[in-house]
This record gives sequence, C-alpha cells and structure tokens, in this order.
Amino acid sequence: YKGIHAALILSLVVALYPWLKNLKKSKGKQAKAECLADLIGNTPLLKIRSLSEATGCEIYAKMELCNPGGSAKDRVALAIIKDFEDRNLIKPNRGDVIFEGTSGSTGISIAMLCKSLGYTAHICLPDDTSDEKVNLLRMYGAVIEKVKPASIVDPNQYVNAAKTGADRIASDSSSDNNAVFADQFENECNWKVHYETTAKEIWEQTGGKLNFFVSGAGTGGTIAGCSIYFKQKNATIKTILADPQGSGLYNRVQYGIMYDTVEKEGTRRRHQVDTLVEGIGLNRITKNFSRGEMYIDAAEKVSDKQALLMARYLNENEGLFLGSSSCVNAVASAKIAFTKAKKGDTIVFVACDSGSRHLSKFWKEALKFDAPSDLRGILNT
Ligand code: PMP
Repeated sequence: YKGIHAALILSLVVALYPWLKNLKKSKGKQAKAECLADLIGNTPLLKIRSLSEATGCEIYAKMELCNPGGSAKDRVALAIIKDFEDRNLIKPNRGDVIFEGTSGSTGISIAMLCKSLGYTAHICLPDDTSDEKVNLLRMYGAVIEKVKPASIVDPNQYVNAAKTGADRIASDSSSDNNAVFADQFENECNWKVHYETTAKEIWEQTGGKLNFFVSGAGTGGTIAGCSIYFKQKNATIKTILADPQGSGLYNRVQYGIMYDTVEKEGTRRRHQVDTLVEGIGLNRITKNFSRGEMYIDAAEKVSDKQALLMARYLNENEGLFLGSSSCVNAVASAKIAFTKAKKGDTIVFVACDSGSRHLSKFWKEALKFDAPSDLRGILNT
C-alpha cells in the first residue's frame, strides 16, 4: 500500500506541477497595487538575444526602466522617504518638504512619490539641465530651483543648495512643517535598497547562475549594494564597473587594476562636458560608492561613440530604446563576454532608464549613425 500511495502522490504532484507554476507566476501579475509605491521593484530580467548570440554568453538586462517613475531611482527615493517616516521626521499631508539636489532621475522619482504619498518635492538643479527632465519634474508638481552650475565645493552648487534649503525650514521653529534633505550620494539607504531588492531579485531571477554583474556608478548605490550582495552569496561572481569617458574615475581605472590616484574635487563641470552620457561617471568618492569599492573586480572604459553605436544596435536588433548609461553598460558587458567570460557564462547589466530622457543630447547624436550590424565593430571603435 505504501508504494501505491507514494506513486499516487508523486503522479499528482507531477500532474499539478505546471498548474502550480503558472499560479505562482500569475499571482504577481494579477495582484492589485494599493499605491504607486507597491509597483516599485520586481523588474524583469530581459535576455538580449543579439548580444548573447554574437558572444556565446547569456546576456541579460535588468529592466529598471520598468519602474513606475522610469528608473532604478524609484527604489532609492522610496527607501529614503520610508526611512524619514520611520524616524518620524516627516508625515504625509502636513506640508513637509523633501529637498534633493539632482539633475537626473532621482528628482523625478522623489517628485512622483511625493505627489503619491503627500509631500512636497523641492528639487535644486543646474540651470542647464535638459528641458525633458525639467518638464517631467514640473508634471509631477515639484518645486524647481535652478542654480548656476558650480563645483561641489561651492555652497551654491545644486546639492549644497538643497541641503541649505532643507536646513532653513527645519531650523525655523515658527513653522509647523518639517523639511529633510534626501542626499542620495551620502545617504546609505541608497546602497542598502539595492542590496535588499535589486541584487536579491537578480539572484533569484538567475537562480544564482550569475558570473558577471555590470553597472555604472552615479552615486555608487547600485554597484555597491549589488557587489556586496553577490560577493556574500558567491565570491566568484565578478562585478564590473562600466565607466564613461570623461568620468573622474576614468584615469583611475586601468585594465582591471583598481584606482591608484584620487581626482581633485571640484572638477565635475570639466568632466561633465566631456561626455554625452548622463547619470554615471563619478568624480568624487561618495559614501555609497566607497561602501562597495573594495568588492568591484574590474572596470571597463566606454567611449561615447561606442555607447551611441550600441544604442542604435539594440534599437535595431531588440526594439530597445535605452538611456545613455544603459548603453554604456551594454558595451561593457559585450567587452567582458569577448574577453573575460567563458562561453555560456551569464552576464547581467543594469538598464537604468529609457531613451526618452536622453532625446535632446544622447539620442540626438545617436541618430546621426546607421545601426551597426557587427558587434565587434562597435567594440573596436
Ligand atoms: N543611470 C542613470 C540614468 C542614472 O541617473 C544613475 C544615477 N545617477 C545611474 C545610472 C547610476 O546609478 P547609481 O546612482 O546607483 O550609481
């Protein structure tokens, strides 16, 4: 009888397995979200067929552009806001203000979440920030303060202006509402949320079969959180920093040997104008970057031309319309696949945002090139 029972149970499990698997899959998709914040994270991993076939590796993009605010920064903005709430520094619908100094996606994520959760976003940015980004911030109802571009040591620089603005309201005892400074560069909620969510998701999505992780560094939060997580899970997983031309790290990154010189602070403007790529390329060592630096195995330099050609290649072959940092990561992944990886290795890179935020600068240039058909040609450019 025991044998018959066991056989019956086994055949039942086998018969029900596809149904159970589908049930598990559809559960996530059908679940109702109670608020916008519930839609953040759990982004898909997309196989990039053209890159995979050309290299013999399995190359995937972590589709952070699928977050409701259009980038990985939704995770960071939410983690920072939740942390302020947990510490009773802010309360919804009381007129509390969240300040941030940013010319990029973090401001858009903060602005979106502030509207959704009952806060005011006050974003300080350089007055040469592209119209598409300023308009997005406006759509989400952020207070926008434009300041003259300046180096980080200047008190009027946009990050410093945001801190000053928050301090001014917070120290005003006659005011009922509070203000906080999100501080994505130094706030450690940043790398921690990538450790707790982005990296964990990639680990689960690949079933732990991961050989290389490729990311740029803007604040350093993504690469730090993911590097720490992956090294703890499996020390043989390699983390690669994809670094654009003009980055302050550029001269410190030599063929996989980690940095030996420190760029002087206050050189950001010079570096910024050197590249069309936005969002990545550090010129000072932030707290978030320094947390993960020791776990980064190597760095790949990527030129603007390579990133532009990759943008066209992925558009043509995959129907993908990616932002500039994602294209830098894709170039670095292909380089790794040809040089450091073995056939069949799995490489995951971050697709941080879509091309729509990069129309007036990066994509305007990308459209001047025909889509290349040869991947090696891009890398040899
Ligand atoms: N890509 C884009 C478009 C970004 O805006 C940023 C953040 N500045 C990054 C990549 C890099 O992410 P992180 O700040 O986690 O280093």
